[in-house]
Amino acid sequence: MSKPIIVNKFGGGILTKEFIPLMKKRIEEQVKKGNQSIAVVSAMPKVTDEILNFLSSLKENYDRKLIESFAQNLLNRHKQIVKDIQISKEYEDEVFTQLENVMTKLEDDLKIDHKKTEGKVGAVTNALEDKVVSCGEKLSAIIMTYYFKSNNLNAKEFIAEEIPIITDDHFKNANIDYLVSSRNVKNKIKEKEEVVVIPGFTGITNDGEVTTLGRGGTDTTACFVGAALEAKRVILWKDVGGVLSADPKIVKTAKTIPFISYLEAEEAGKIIHDKAIQYVKMHKTEIEIASIANPKLTTKIGEIKKKEKGAKIVSIKKDLNLLLITDEVIKVNDLLLLVCDIFKKHKVEMILVSNTRYSLQIVAEKNDEIEKVYNEIKSKVEKIELIKASMVFLVGNFEAKDVNDFNSLLVKLGTDLQISAFYFENCKRIEAVIRTDNIEKVVNNLYKKFIKK
Ligand code: ASP
Ligand code: MG
Repeated sequence: MSKPIIVNKFGGGILTKEFIPLMKKRIEEQVKKGNQSIAVVSAMPKVTDEILNFLSSLKENYDRKLIESFAQNLLNRHKQIVKDIQISKEYEDEVFTQLENVMTKLEDDLKIDHKKTEGKVGAVTNALEDKVVSCGEKLSAIIMTYYFKSNNLNAKEFIAEEIPIITDDHFKNANIDYLVSSRNVKNKIKEKEEVVVIPGFTGITNDGEVTTLGRGGTDTTACFVGAALEAKRVILWKDVGGVLSADPKIVKTAKTIPFISYLEAEEAGKIIHDKAIQYVKMHKTEIEIASIANPKLTTKIGEIKKKEKGAKIVSIKKDLNLLLITDEVIKVNDLLLLVCDIFKKHKVEMILVSNTRYSLQIVAEKNDEIEKVYNEIKSKVEKIELIKASMVFLVGNFEAKDVNDFNSLLVKLGTDLQISAFYFENCKRIEAVIRTDNIEKVVNNLYKKFIKK
């Protein structure tokens, strides 16, 4: 019988000298218990951002020297990590050669493109960007593979191109072809004796072009691999203790929640990457968000087993933009159409929309383009106002009474309630838009009232 499989996702935030030894420890524990362990890794801290920033500057100033110095710098930093985490001397040459190979390829890719396009501004295409950005994950997967090896854990790296994890050609935000890729993963990886290390966030098109899966895409790779192999569990390791009932910087007594459903996790946001969750839902794979330092602090995410009532999480979104639009001539349908087009044009995301007969209230994300949206709508409607606001919300299972209590409390706290919460069937999230200078006080009051001790 084949062994149960555990897929571990190690994100950039914990790929540090302090936590890397703990990753080895967690994998070792799994292997000892008879599991097959897989590690899906992100790029080292800040590396993806740095590569992207470098590519932006290259778009404006396409300079060979810049490419060389950037590549050298990135290589040296990764070599330093190899030394910092004390990969044994026995492997040092090998690991350095492999890191150098990735960087040489990166330099070549950039320079070949430079030649082809004669260094024109804007020559960095999305396809080239993906090829280069994906190196971050490749470098860290090499390091982690050798780190495991040098600590007596037999490990082997499989990059997305050789598995292969096939995606469409939406560069920078590609989608995995599940049917083909899951078969490939099974063939390549199932029943491997070694700890399999996979660089996350990357894929390849049928035409052999490297793609990336969207920012934070290592979650997507991990959940995809978990689903493809029908893993017993996917563990997303963090430096904090699972999913907390509130931001501990605001609520001192915030605690780790033992269990939330897939739906609640989606409603809470920021827990698992949007694209990732579809895969684990498919085979009802259990997910765990666990603290790398203290694995007892963990939140399990799965199918609802028993119906629980009430709130589990209190959260906020600050610095949002609220547009209050009124027009007594344009019908609300047309008004909405008009407004949506303008939001779309400026790529500003709407978070919440509510309306009356002659008015629209739209909450939009924090985005500098909002001024343009505002000005353009202003030129077309009778009246518009743009104000800063915050959203407070609860995640859990709610009844109509909870929604009333929530709104009443916000009014009582003098929060200048702009959009109140409303009830709907099977309500998993209640949210309201408020204006207040003391959001901490509001959150603490909501916590006291709604979260069970
Ligand atoms: N390194 C990629 C990013 O920063 C993928 C990830 O971290 O999940 O977006
Ligand atoms: Mg990252």
